[in-house]
Amino acid sequence: MSAERIDGKAYALGLRGRIATLAADFTARTGRKAGLAVVLVGEDAASQVYVRSKGKATVEAGMASFEHRLPADAGEAELLALIGALNADPAVDGILVQLPLPAHLDEQTVISTISPDKDVDGFHVTNAGRLAVGQPGFVPCTPLGCVMLLKDRLGSLSGMDAVVIGRSNIVGKPMAQLLLAESCTVTIAHSRTRDLADVVRRADIVVAAVGRPEMVKGDWIKPGATVIDVGINRVDAAEPGKTRLVGDVDFGEACAVAGAITPVPGGVGPMTIAVLLRNALVAAFRNAGMALPAEAI
Ligand code: NDP
Repeated sequence: MSAERIDGKAYALGLRGRIATLAADFTARTGRKAGLAVVLVGEDAASQVYVRSKGKATVEAGMASFEHRLPADAGEAELLALIGALNADPAVDGILVQLPLPAHLDEQTVISTISPDKDVDGFHVTNAGRLAVGQPGFVPCTPLGCVMLLKDRLGSLSGMDAVVIGRSNIVGKPMAQLLLAESCTVTIAHSRTRDLADVVRRADIVVAAVGRPEMVKGDWIKPGATVIDVGINRVDAAEPGKTRLVGDVDFGEACAVAGAITPVPGGVGPMTIAVLLRNALVAAFRNAGMALPAEAI
């Protein structure tokens, strides 16, 4: 048996197409483009790449991209003032501050300054609370993308046993909340979990968000389970001096057991930016007081 590959790249492409159609509709009805502001502090190479691709994707979707760059030694007051100005700017529907921030800036203080109604990353404590109690808000992009892929493959998730490995605020915890909202029986595993392999073996749905290359082995997986691999780990390739990306799941082993699995790259990764665009568009419709059918995107 070889697991079906869940093609996140293709799903994300389709989602971005639907977003572009709705973004054009938004512009036609309001006379302005939905706007996403991205703030980058410092010169971190990976962050620069992310910010560039987010800006490009925003423009491709027919939305306005506002990029703000501050030097690595920018003070907290300067950054908070910029966020305050973006909160007040009616052309800006969504605000994203690229993480990680330089060490002298406190991420929680910065995130809590973003208006919860423009917090398209879903990291503000108000949005974490809204997710926990089932109110509409913004949900972190990566876990929301994972749920979209799961529902696309499985339909209803109701009653399924789900194990989420990882309890970070940006992936593991919101992922568990979303699966609970889909009426899964959810277990959250982490570095202190005893007999992790046994815990994972119970799961119809396994979500691995750990950051440890190929940690989840094939014999941890229940035959036929659906495996979502969030991990992005760079490891040495067979060719000297080259590297390659692998997930948190041993893909080769898991393929022999699972019913379906996301590859790395090409699985969860492409979903994150697509869902960011989705959240920005939802913010625009909400800020304009317009209804956006939930099932549309
Ligand atoms: P964090 O480092 O914040 O969290 C990792 C989690 O894994 C922690 O809860 C930790 O447990 C748990 N963990 C660590 N070691 C073990 C272990 N041996 N057994 C079980 N659990 C363990 O990472 P993130 O949540 O931010 O990211 C996780 C992975 O997802 C990374 O590879 C990251 O690159 C990737 N990622 C991918 C994205 C995408 O777009 N595809 C977006 C975001 C992240 P504890 O809490 O006990 O320390």
